[in-house]
Amino acid sequence: MLVDIMKKYNVKTFGSEILGKKAEKVTVFDDKLAELAAAMVEIMNHFDGIGLAAPQIGISKRLVVLGVPDNPEQPNKSIGEVMLLDKMPLVLVNPEITAFGSDLCDYDEGCLSVPGIYGNVKRPYIVKLKAQDLQGNFFEYECGGLLGRCIQHELDHLDGYLFVDRMSEEDRQNIEFKLFRLKKNGKRKEYNRPWK
Ligand code: ZN
Repeated sequence: MLVDIMKKYNVKTFGSEILGKKAEKVTVFDDKLAELAAAMVEIMNHFDGIGLAAPQIGISKRLVVLGVPDNPEQPNKSIGEVMLLDKMPLVLVNPEITAFGSDLCDYDEGCLSVPGIYGNVKRPYIVKLKAQDLQGNFFEYECGGLLGRCIQHELDHLDGYLFVDRMSEEDRQNIEFKLFRLKKNGKRKEYNRPWK
């Protein structure tokens, strides 16, 4: 039940220490890991997110869930989009990017841990993702489009980075006051108590 899940976990917002820490590798593939991933999917869906990393709910583990929507009209899909978009919600255990494409693109990103703030981040259009599933099986695909973007954003969380750390100096300065306010008030926000 979502209510029980949200009593156990809450979404950590900007300023929370765990968001700046490198998360630990998953070494045990058991029912507990599957339960945690299922809880993360519920939280992600509740907030209409398209991705959530374990540190965002206070768990220092290299675990990510994705709920990236498919766009059937998008041409030239990467092999990863073809293979993975119809498997959403998707769990990535110990994900890593093994190669970055050279083409960069702009996109306005948001984050459940930085509520109400959006900003442009330049990132490679395509990356090669290597990850394990909940049974520990490895898979590796080139992922572009929104999927590639979301993977890069979520994997940053595992290394202690937020999208606001990737914004241009100028764009970052424009949101600095909002970030300051969020850091000060984050914990008191209704945002962390959605069952009310
Ligand atoms: Zn995020």
